[in-house]
This record gives sequence, C-alpha cells and structure tokens, in this order.
Amino acid sequence: MANAVCLVPARAANPIRVMLLDGQSGGAYHDWKSTTPVMKKQLEETGRFQVDVVTSPAWPGDFSNFKPEFSKYQVVVSNLDSPDWPENLRTQFEAYMRNGGGLVVVHGADNAFPNWVAYNEMIGIGGWRGRTNENAGPLWYLKDGKLTSDNTPGKAGSHGARKAFALTDQLPDHPVTKGLPKVWMHAADELYATMRGPGKEMSVVSTAFSAPDNKGTGRDEPMLMALRFSKGRIFHTTLGHDVAALNCVGFIVTFQRGTEWAATGKVTQKVPSDFPTATETRVRP
Ligand code: ZN
Repeated sequence: MANAVCLVPARAANPIRVMLLDGQSGGAYHDWKSTTPVMKKQLEETGRFQVDVVTSPAWPGDFSNFKPEFSKYQVVVSNLDSPDWPENLRTQFEAYMRNGGGLVVVHGADNAFPNWVAYNEMIGIGGWRGRTNENAGPLWYLKDGKLTSDNTPGKAGSHGARKAFALTDQLPDHPVTKGLPKVWMHAADELYATMRGPGKEMSVVSTAFSAPDNKGTGRDEPMLMALRFSKGRIFHTTLGHDVAALNCVGFIVTFQRGTEWAATGKVTQKVPSDFPTATETRVRP
C-alpha cells in the first residue's frame, strides 16, 4: 500500500454536525488530549462531518460557564470519562437524546457516570468507577449466538493485556457493519469483558472472544452495540484505548459509520479497500 493516495473528499454541502466531547478520564492511561484530535481527523476526513470539540470541566470543578449547546448537533461523540455532571447538564442531555439526538460512546467513555441512570440506559453496559458490584446490572454476553444476561454477582469491567483480536459480526444487515467482513482482526487493544448494565433496547452488532489465557472470560463479549433511548440513537464501541488502537482501519471505519448511523439512522459510506481481514490487522499511520 506504499503508493496508495489518500484522497480527502470535500466537505458535504450539509455536513453532519458533531460535538466531540472530552475533558476528563479515569487516569493517564486514557489520554484524551492525544486521542481527541485523532478522532476529529477520522470523522472530518470522510467529508461528511463538521466537528466541534467541546471540553467539559473536570468533575467536581466549576461548571458555571460550561453551557454545551447539544441541540446544535446531530450527534455527540463522547471521549469523556467523568464521574458525574451537575444535574442541569444531565437533564439537558437526557432531553436532547429523548428528542432524537445521537450519541457515540468510545471505549473509556463507558466508564463514566456510574450513578446516572439514563446514561447507563444509553450505553447499555459499562464498567469500572462506581460499578463495583451486581447493582450495576447483569453481565451481558453472547451465548450460543444469543444475547444473554447473567445475574452472577461481581464487579463490572475487566480486560487482559493489549493484543490483537478478532471481531465477529453478529448482525450483518445492520447499517454500521453491512458489507464488512464477517470476521476481522482489530489491532492491539484492550478487550473489554464482564461489562454490566441495564442492556435495554440494545443490539450487539459485533463480539470478540475473551480468551481465558489473557485474563478473559471464555465468552463472546459485546464490542460494538447499537441502542435506542426514546427517540435517540446510540452507537457504543468498546474499542479505542489509545492512538495505536484508534489507528486500526477497523476502528476507523466502524467509528465513522457508527457516527453517521447515530446521527441519521443510515450509513452512506463505502468500505475501503484497506479494511482488515480475518487473519490480518490493518493500520493507518
Ligand atoms: Zn483503556
């Protein structure tokens, strides 16, 4: 692919407006200051999105001047892992979603807001922070190809060492994955497992096998999810720990397509020729 030319399409006449939300993480291991610019570029290079980065104060800071205008945007992409938000912001965001807003949750953003009931409904499953036991909801995974909930007690959220792993498409007609290979290799990343939550109106689009020899569960764990929250649409990807994981073409393409789907309910983007295969990862520099 050394001679491949990357043609950046001109921005569409009516681009989808995206709020890319960041400002806090659970620790230095999720470096939002380095991942946000990569995510912004990945969306803008499609020509379909106009992205504004909106940075939240870190909780429990001064939120008096933080007034995100959700209604200006068709979709909010969250790269924010905050323990909480002021009630007025939570209320505004819930109203935006109930009225048909879009949300994309990337990796550690599903660690955020453990006690916010509506947020947990939007993301379907989450882990870490305050999700210390089964009160966070049942475990969700695929068993014999069927989405299953499991009330076994325990904490929420685990992963092994960062390694490449295979994603398997479970809903080949879903707009986000339509036309993608049934199985494709994702570049080295954390494979999230033992995730818990309400799992309401949640479709698991793609799974990955959590290998017991890498601290895994031996189950097919949800990786890409499509959800509804009232009239709102949510695309949740557990992929994307760091810039190296974001550079996987499989991450990029499912993120670009998932963002369009969350904003509009449709996907108009073609699958690129450098998409990973069942045996090979593919990354862009
Ligand atoms: Zn991570």
